[in-house]
Amino acid sequence: SREAGEALDETELAIEGALRPSSLDEFVGQPKVRGQLQLLLQAAHMQERPADHILLAGPPGLGKTTLAMIVAHESGRPLRLSSGPAIQHAGDLAALLSSLTPGEVLFIDEIHRMARSAEEMLYLAMEDFRIDIMVGKGAGATSIPLELAPFTLVGATTRSGLLPNPLRDRFGFTGHLEFYDDDDLERVIARSANVLGVRLPDDSLSEIARRSRGTPRIANRLLRRVRDYALVHGGGAAASIADVKAALELYDVDAIGLDRLDRAVLDALVRRFRGGPVGLSTLAVAVGEEAETVESVVEPYLVRIGFLGRTPRGRIAMPEAYRHLGIVHPDGVAL
Ligand code: ADP
Repeated sequence: SREAGEALDETELAIEGALRPSSLDEFVGQPKVRGQLQLLLQAAHMQERPADHILLAGPPGLGKTTLAMIVAHESGRPLRLSSGPAIQHAGDLAALLSSLTPGEVLFIDEIHRMARSAEEMLYLAMEDFRIDIMVGKGAGATSIPLELAPFTLVGATTRSGLLPNPLRDRFGFTGHLEFYDDDDLERVIARSANVLGVRLPDDSLSEIARRSRGTPRIANRLLRRVRDYALVHGGGAAASIADVKAALELYDVDAIGLDRLDRAVLDALVRRFRGGPVGLSTLAVAVGEEAETVESVVEPYLVRIGFLGRTPRGRIAMPEAYRHLGIVHPDGVAL
C-alpha cells in the first residue's frame, strides 16, 4: 500500500520484512482479529483442510500483509503474493489461480483494485475451486471448466466499502484492523528496536509511539530515522529524547505525529475552504494528491482523532483541527 509522503524503496521494504512478526503470538494488539483468526486456523487444522477465505480491512500499515504471512506460516502452507493492480484481466487471475499448489495461501493486496472481469472469475474460484475459461469470441465462444487446487484467499483492502457485495460475501470472515493505541505501539517499537539493535530509553519509546499515527509501519519508520539520527549525532549511544525530537522535526513529523500531507489537507480545509464542507476530489486537487490517497491514507486518522468529519455534503474541519493549527474558529468560539 502507498504511504503519505515517503515512498518505500527496496531497502526499506527489506527492513520492513525483517521486522514482521511471524506468529499470531508475536503480533501485537488487535485482540479481536487475532482471536478470530486463531479459531479459524485451528478449526481448519483439525479438519485438515485449507482455512476459509479471509478479508482484512483497514488503513495502510496496520498489519494486513503481516497477518496474511502469519496465516500461511501458522498453517504450514506456502504463500503467494499478488495485488489488485497486478490483475488487470481475467487471464492474469486464471494464470495465477491455476498455478496454485493444494492448500496454498493466496494474498491479494488492494483487492478492490482488481479488474471487474477478474472479480467474476474469482467468485466461482472461491466458492467451488473452479474457473471457466472463455475460448473464442462472439457466437463461437465456449467456456472450458478448469478444476483448481483448494486454496485460502486472503484479501486486503483499505476500503471494504468498495468491494462488490458478491465478493465480500464469499469471504468466510472479515477482520477489521483498528488504529493501535500508544501501549501497543510501544510494544511494536520495543520489539523492532530489539531486532535493529537500537537502545531506546522509556521516554524516547513513548515519544515515538505518540507520534506514530496509530500505525505500526509508521512507528517502525520513525524508529529507523531516530536510529539514524542517534548514530550520526549521538555517536551510536542510546537514542535520547532530544534525538527523537530532532529527528522527527527534521522529517516534518509534528508533535502529535501529523506529517506534511496531513497538515496540508487540514490547512486547505480550514483556510482555503473555510472549514468546509468540501468534496473529496476538490480537497485532493488542492493538496496535489490523488483522491484515493487522501481518502484511504490521510483521512482515517484525522477522523479518528476528531480533526476531520465526513458528511454527506463533504469534508468539514472540526474545532480540534483549528486548535492544532492555531487558527481561530470562524464562529469566534474561544478554543
Ligand atoms: P499493511 O499490509 O496493512 O499495509 P503491513 O502488514 O505491511 O501493513 O505492516 C507494516 C509494518 O508494520 C510491517 O513492518 C510489520 O512488521 C509492522 N506491523 C504491522 N502490524 C504489526 C503488529 N501487530 N505487530 C508488530 N508489527 C506490526
